[in-house]
Amino acid sequence: MTPAFSVCVYCGSRPGSKPEYAEAARAVGTWIGQHGGQLVYGGGKAGLMGITAEAALQAGGRVVGVIPKALVEKEWAFHDCTELYIVDTMHERKRMMAERADAFLALPGGIGTFEELFEVWTWRQLGYHDKPVGLLNVDRYYDGLLAFLGATVEQQFLSDWQMDLIQTGTDPQTLLTRLVQDAGFAPAPHLGGI
Ligand code: AMP
Repeated sequence: MTPAFSVCVYCGSRPGSKPEYAEAARAVGTWIGQHGGQLVYGGGKAGLMGITAEAALQAGGRVVGVIPKALVEKEWAFHDCTELYIVDTMHERKRMMAERADAFLALPGGIGTFEELFEVWTWRQLGYHDKPVGLLNVDRYYDGLLAFLGATVEQQFLSDWQMDLIQTGTDPQTLLTRLVQDAGFAPAPHLGGI
């Protein structure tokens, strides 16, 4: 079945220190699956990545993983993906993930997640795409980053309109609904069947 929409999720390859992070990852995957959507992500089985992917599959969603072969060789791939693409380079991976997505959402994570979030945000401000970008601030994880970004606006290295290109939220369902609606879709609960 054709998915109703695709959300590209960037998140930690580790679970983090608090159970709230895993709960949020599970809620994101479940919401995508329950609304007939497709998760696009980095194809890993570790940490929040694996939790999100498993939840999406369990809720009936499609999961597209895109992973560089170097990471597959380290046995980091999640082979239960509906579609798993093994690509040569990180650049190829990120381009493919971005192309397959209608919206982007970053969850708590480390440098990999930061890099992915900042890249799609930069691409958006340059007009390379016009897809919504979201940041899920689970249990205040991103408070420090958001405060820093606010300071960069005050210091005039960033403009309010650039900040407005990132939608932040604390509730997975509310933020996902907003992103998917802004991408031009009306996410109704998926009832299954034919
Ligand atoms: P990090 O936030 O540093 O844990 O990195 C997570 C992000 O980088 C994910 O969104 C992935 O796209 C990529 N990544 C980092 N480590 C892995 C891994 N072990 N398996 C698959 N992708 C990874």
